[in-house]
This record gives sequence, C-alpha cells and structure tokens, in this order.
Amino acid sequence: MNQEGQPAYRRILLKLSGEAFMGAQEYGVDPAVLDQVAQEVAELSTLGVEVGIVIGGGNIFRGAGLAKGGMDRVTGDHMGMLATVINALALQDAIERTGRFCRVMSAIRINQVCEDYIRRRAVRHLEKGRIVVFAAGTGNPFFTTDSAAALRAIEINAELMIKATKVDGVYDADPMQRSDARRFERLTFDEALERRLGVMDTTALVMCRDNQLPLRVMNMFAKGDLQRLVMGEPVGTLVEGAIQ
Ligand code: UDP
Repeated sequence: MNQEGQPAYRRILLKLSGEAFMGAQEYGVDPAVLDQVAQEVAELSTLGVEVGIVIGGGNIFRGAGLAKGGMDRVTGDHMGMLATVINALALQDAIERTGRFCRVMSAIRINQVCEDYIRRRAVRHLEKGRIVVFAAGTGNPFFTTDSAAALRAIEINAELMIKATKVDGVYDADPMQRSDARRFERLTFDEALERRLGVMDTTALVMCRDNQLPLRVMNMFAKGDLQRLVMGEPVGTLVEGAIQ
C-alpha cells in the first residue's frame, strides 16, 4: 500500500518496443518520440522510482524478418540484438539531456560503447538513482526483447514490469479492426496464454507467471500515464498470477 503522494513502486522494469521509436517514420528513430519517452522516464526517476529499461530493435532489424529474406537466422538475431544497442545509446543520450544519469548495459560484450551487463553492478546503478538501459536482449538468438525484459525484471527484483506499446492495454480482439473489442482491466497469465491474446511471447509470459512478476500493458504515447501508473492508478491492463 503506498502512502499518499508516494510512488506505489520502488523499482520497475519498463519494456519499450523499438517500433514505437519510429514515430511516423518507416525506419530508425524519430528524435521527437525519443525526447518524449526520455522526458516521461526522467519524471519517474525524479519521483524516486528506480527505473530499468529493456529496449527492442524492431525499428531497425528483426532476426525473423531477415531470415525470411534468406539470411541465416542466428546472424539475423545478432543484427537484431545490435539494433537494440543502437536504440539504447539513442535513449541514453536523450535521458541524459533531461539531466538524469543513465547507463547502458549490454548482454553482448561491446564495452567501448557501453558497459557489460553485470547484475550486481546494474543494481548498484539503480540504487544510486541512475536509469539503466539493458541492451542486446538476452544475448542469445531465438529470444525476444520481451523475454529479455521479463528476465532482467526478475534478476533486478523489479516489483512490476511495464510493457509500453501503441495500444492502451490488452483487448479480446484487435481494437483497430473491431469496434466492439473489449479492453481487459485485469487478466491472468494463464488466460493470456490460453486465449493467445498476443500480450507477449510465451517464454516471456511463462517467466513472469512462474516468478510472480506482475505486468502492466499501457500506451506509451498517452502523456502522463506512466507517471499515473507508478503512483498506483489502474492504467492499462494488469496481467498477474491469480486474480484475488
Ligand atoms: N533478439 C535476439 N535475442 C534476444 C532479444 C532480441 O536475438 O534476446 C533479436 C531478434 O532478432 C529480435 C531483435 O533482436 O527480432 C529485436 O528485438 P525485438 O523483435 O524483441 O524488438 P521489438 O519488437 O521490441 O522492437
């Protein structure tokens, strides 16, 4: 239970998709989107919330897409993971321009441009109020950055994972296609898995479920929603182990 005016969470893990960074562009990073996201993240940090971020790479490369074009899947996944490093560096720059400190830690060693991921060091950064961006996914091909987000969230003992998307929660049908689509306030990981609601991939959902890590799915572009969420307001859809 949070005290009046205090954040409801001490430490969170925010998953940002690479695709969202494109804004209206077809590829790469839109500086305006980057600055907006950095501003919202910096506000959480100013409230005293420890923020870890896992960033995707879909705005640049996805291994599965490259493999469809004939490329070796593992090579494609390596390229996808390196794409997340590019996004992480861009986000670090934008966050530091807000005046907050930020560290990028990569699961693939590339330590002339950012730090290697070392769990204890990551936790120390968070305790010191630095925002930590976890790059290069899990460091392994055939995984996604959603799975990396679940993994890092569990490793750093985050109280909540937030998946920031282009939609304001989880629906029972595609809200872009069907006007009668219904948004869930809450649902269980098992329901999300059984009904194949497309919240995240199976690996990520199972990791959250088996490690009692709650997840909130929210719209990254609804201004102020991230702040409301960490203050304890029921923003988006809550996915959890069992509904009490
Ligand atoms: N990737 C990977 N292992 C990981 C995380 C990511 O191989 O642990 C690769 C994979 O090719 C993936 C790409 O990196 O398609 C970009 O990540 P993702 O598709 O999750 O990005 P998002 O959809 O969030 O932008």
